[in-house]
Amino acid sequence: MMCDSAKSETEVPSTFMSLPVRSIYVHVPFCEHRCGYCDFSIIANRAELIPRYLNALRKELETSPHLDSHLLDVDTLYIGGGTPTLLSANELEELFSILSDSFLLAPDAEFTIEANPDGLTADKIQVLKSVGVNRVSLGVQSFDDSRLIQLERTHSVQQTETAIELIQQNFNNFSLDLIFAIPGQTLSEWQQMLLKAISFQPPHISSYALTYEKGTRFWSDRNKGNFQSTDEQMEVEMYLKTISELTKANYDHYEISNFAKAGSQSRHNNIYWSGRPYLAFGPGAASFVDGQRHSNHRSSFTWMNRLEQNQSPIVSTDDLTAEERARELLAIGLRRREGVNLDDLSLAAGVDLAVCCDDEISNLIEKGWIHREFSELRITSAGLLFADEIASILV
Ligand code: SF4
Repeated sequence: MMCDSAKSETEVPSTFMSLPVRSIYVHVPFCEHRCGYCDFSIIANRAELIPRYLNALRKELETSPHLDSHLLDVDTLYIGGGTPTLLSANELEELFSILSDSFLLAPDAEFTIEANPDGLTADKIQVLKSVGVNRVSLGVQSFDDSRLIQLERTHSVQQTETAIELIQQNFNNFSLDLIFAIPGQTLSEWQQMLLKAISFQPPHISSYALTYEKGTRFWSDRNKGNFQSTDEQMEVEMYLKTISELTKANYDHYEISNFAKAGSQSRHNNIYWSGRPYLAFGPGAASFVDGQRHSNHRSSFTWMNRLEQNQSPIVSTDDLTAEERARELLAIGLRRREGVNLDDLSLAAGVDLAVCCDDEISNLIEKGWIHREFSELRITSAGLLFADEIASILV
């Protein structure tokens, strides 16, 4: 294999090109309002547009160049947002009916839906169960009402507890999402959040530091000096506390921000991190198929308009070389604690990463951020704090 990516593509065909797609993401963009830190592709407080969205989604599936008239067998289906459970029970039924015209879930498929505590009612739970949803990812974020107000979330702790109870009664598999490094939050307060989350015994927990994305209200408020973000040292301490508390409670820290009880890793997210193909539908959704990433328009209105005018919703297709793609997959793969096998990844990508990235890999080993044992590369405990820097060195 060679580092010349053009030759790599022709002389060493990437096996990524031939992997069948068995994972689907569907983006539902509706939210009650936009939280101050959110830069996702969403539409706030426009539930009247849901029927129009559903028609556009139907059209996207019917006209997708990656789907034919046969049902596609699917191992993981993930409905994310936005807030998918903002849809009424009837609208959820229609959504699943649209999806069932294109996809056939394997008997052991993982079928996840994201939910917020305030929209998850018993009648919606019944619809979710009837269509085969078997995993709920709940946007908890905090077990402190004042922090929820600060984050501009629309739910209360009481609603979260009711939602978790409802989920526990109906699903074996669920995940709680938490946010730390909220301005003013102390280390002991964060520790209490973790212990509270653990007390519900969720099979999976995702925990992210609050980020300030350009264009969000939090970003501009912080720049105007309206509040101070948590200092870096405290953020690191909170992250380390997350790892120690969740590990002590028998959660496997399997990805930078994700923790799971045995057998409860997110199969869908593991598809992303392992570089396997997936198809994605809805505004802002990006598919990775045939070694290329195709991204839909981020604006829900433009996405709907395009489909209504018989135009493709895809706004860009990346033209990464085989080497660029391989480097990206290496960076993503290193987010998983189990790491990557360089030989396997090189074979799959059609590029000899040990040769192409020799300098970068040596540099990262020297810094103590990754560890190499023969062909196995793993992020170290020290490297966990520099995941973004590792990615920027490799990509
Ligand atoms: S609920 Fe989630 S997706 Fe919706 S605005 Fe808030 S952070 Fe964004």
